Amino acid sequence: MNALEMPAFRCGKCLAGPYRSREQANDCCTCTECGIEKDARSSFCKPCWQKRDAAREAKAFAAATKIPLAEYGHSHVYAEGHGDEGYLDVDSIDDEWADGVGRPEYVWGCSDQDTPTFDLRDEIANRLSDEYHERVVESVLDGGDEVERAQALITQAMQRGHGFMEDQSVAVLLSGIDEVAP
Ligand SMILES: [Zn+2]
Ligand SMILES: [Zn+2]
Repeated sequence: MNALEMPAFRCGKCLAGPYRSREQANDCCTCTECGIEKDARSSFCKPCWQKRDAAREAKAFAAATKIPLAEYGHSHVYAEGHGDEGYLDVDSIDDEWADGVGRPEYVWGCSDQDTPTFDLRDEIANRLSDEYHERVVESVLDGGDEVERAQALITQAMQRGHGFMEDQSVAVLLSGIDEVAP
């Protein structure tokens, strides 16, 4: 076969490459949104990411149900950088921004997750069925009532696995709270 030569380009700044086109190489360290210099591993420069994040957040806030803190029913809210990985006890909101500095106008709500489930029969069957004959699997599962009894205990334990997640369909309004220092 006759080999054809293919053009290759490198980024003039970080020397990453090869890129198939001059445009791709030029875009390597240039923000495609605003044209200023950016990190090669990121699509946009930092200010552009911040602008995008802010726009996404504003859109989510506009669409969210807005509830004053006093009428909010859940035990936790979500505020990035606060509480336990963002999850903040409603009762500690005032302590978190005790001097009022940086206190946001709203935080995101939380909603409950479904109780986790675990099907022991399924797990045992999956685990054994590759290696053992069907009749062996059956005798393990149905030979006695151990699996059922164990399942009952597991289900009981799962009831405690009651979690909650950030829910951006609810914005909890913090402004206008009496406790905020003047
Ligand atoms: Zn580059
Ligand atoms: Zn940019």
